[in-house]
Amino acid sequence: MRHFDAIVLGAGSAGELIASNLAKAGRSVAMIEKLRVGGECAYVSCMPSKSMLRSTQVRNLTKKIVELGGSKNPILLSDEEGAFAWAASRRDQIVENRDDASATASAIKAGVELIRGTGRFEGPDQLRVNEENLSWTDLILATGSTSTIPKIEGLDEIDFWTSDQALSANTRPKSVLIVGGGPVGCELAQIFARFGAETTIVQFTEQLVEHEHPEIAKRLAQNLVADGVKISFDTSVTKVEMSVNKTVIAHLSNGSVITVERLIIASGRHPNISELNLNLLGIEVNDKGAIQVDGHCRVLGYEHIWAAGDVTGIAPFTHTANYQGRIVSANVLGGDEVANYSAVPRAIYTDPPVASVGEMKAARSADDFIHAQIELSEVSRNKTDGEAGGLLILSADPSRGVLTGATAIGPHADEWLVEATLAIRAEVPLATLCDVVHGFPTFSEAYEVPMRELLHLSLLSREKLAQRLKRAEITQCDHEFELDKVLGQVRCIKCGDLDDEMQLPNLAVATKEAKDDFYKTQASFE
Ligand SMILES: Cc1cc2nc3c(=O)[nH]c(=O)nc-3n(C[C@H](O)[C@H](O)[C@H](O)COP(=O)(O)OP(=O)(O)OC[C@H]3O[C@@H](n4cnc5c(N)ncnc54)[C@H](O)[C@@H]3O)c2cc1C
Repeated sequence: MRHFDAIVLGAGSAGELIASNLAKAGRSVAMIEKLRVGGECAYVSCMPSKSMLRSTQVRNLTKKIVELGGSKNPILLSDEEGAFAWAASRRDQIVENRDDASATASAIKAGVELIRGTGRFEGPDQLRVNEENLSWTDLILATGSTSTIPKIEGLDEIDFWTSDQALSANTRPKSVLIVGGGPVGCELAQIFARFGAETTIVQFTEQLVEHEHPEIAKRLAQNLVADGVKISFDTSVTKVEMSVNKTVIAHLSNGSVITVERLIIASGRHPNISELNLNLLGIEVNDKGAIQVDGHCRVLGYEHIWAAGDVTGIAPFTHTANYQGRIVSANVLGGDEVANYSAVPRAIYTDPPVASVGEMKAARSADDFIHAQIELSEVSRNKTDGEAGGLLILSADPSRGVLTGATAIGPHADEWLVEATLAIRAEVPLATLCDVVHGFPTFSEAYEVPMRELLHLSLLSREKLAQRLKRAEITQCDHEFELDKVLGQVRCIKCGDLDDEMQLPNLAVATKEAKDDFYKTQASFE
């Protein structure tokens, strides 16, 4: 039995990164992969979907060429099927025709021993791959996730697609029925609809992208409808059958029947654990099948077993897989890195995109969080670009005076949301965020008005708190003055009274420099 310093099971975004990092640090590393080095993202998920979406955006923009002043005469875009095939060939170049040769070469160059095959545990300290048993000092589980196939009568008899096939197709079906209106379903819907396929989404809840803010989800649905997508809310597919001419007949829970050329299942994903025999290691998974990890990405209860990426069930995106990959690499090499998931962005790359970060809802009660929003039609860049507007909603915690969440739908929202991402991650005070200068005209100017509103609401909320404290009739208060960073005032934390002698000039107190200055001044008084 061969022994390695580290065995990395799964060579997707997380596994590939960890294996290379550890090998470059001089560890002996075996990376086990049953399909493609690079996993899902490079070949069948992020990269092909974003490539196809880009083609649809350009196509849509071309349709607006007269409106946007690019030409006096329209450009005819009639050949939708041919255009789809052309977009697919561009996509295939970008995803290297789903060939992992270059990713494999990079891993090997880094010093990784790549073993192709399916890994299964044969005991608490043995992994079986092909005909060989392997052992480890550190084991890293990075097996990713797979499309969840819902229980629908007759589905076994149908040649349906998941996102893998939908994003590898070279020909466009005339009509598609997409089961599931999550991020994947919405992106696929826009791709197929904009290339002229009759497209229907069946969504079992009352809004698309159910984890997002309802108003943002509503706008996304409106945009997809404008692209020609039909959406059935609160509906599920109960039964499917194949017609004599090979079309799919789908029976919906609302009694209607839809006939389409292709059924696409996009109803969520689940961690890849079923073939691993994790029970032999004593590892338990949660009710969603995800491997539980601590902040260090150590599997709970195991010193030398780690997990990263979709298999952990935490924010299942490539950037999380990469982040956890960095954490695991550092910690296996003796570091003490702890993951912070407070500001992991998420995006739906439709045109325009939806982008969100942090928490929009109150963790404790509705009163604990304040919200402010702006229509993007009020931002100058929207006018110069001739865009259809959009919405930005911000959320803050007044007690801490910091931003807690941001969600937007609008042009390039996936890019300019990074400002909120940084603000939430670094807990930048609202007063400082209000002091940020944005270039004119940029979409990021959208932050300015709602951010000031949040600061204002935050101040009011503090005032209200102070009044409530006073109403509590603390008559003979033995004042305990403290600097209130948000208000820029020195107040008694018991009764809310101001210390008149110790007031700061303005809200800039929330910046670190100002705060430091204040304390220096205070110290010089003493
Ligand atoms: C359609 C679609 C679009 C997406 N778009 C985006 C996007 O735009 N941005 C974004 O951030 N995220 C996106 N995602 C999510 C992203 O693809 C995943 O979060 C990311 O790929 C997870 O990486 P991973 O390393 O955890 O797993 P994977 O990339 O799935 O890699 C796991 C690897 O493990 C291998 N494996 C599994 N079991 C075994 C075994 N027993 N033995 C050997 N090998 C095994 C698999 O073959 C696979 O190669 C999208 C997902 C989908 C489905």
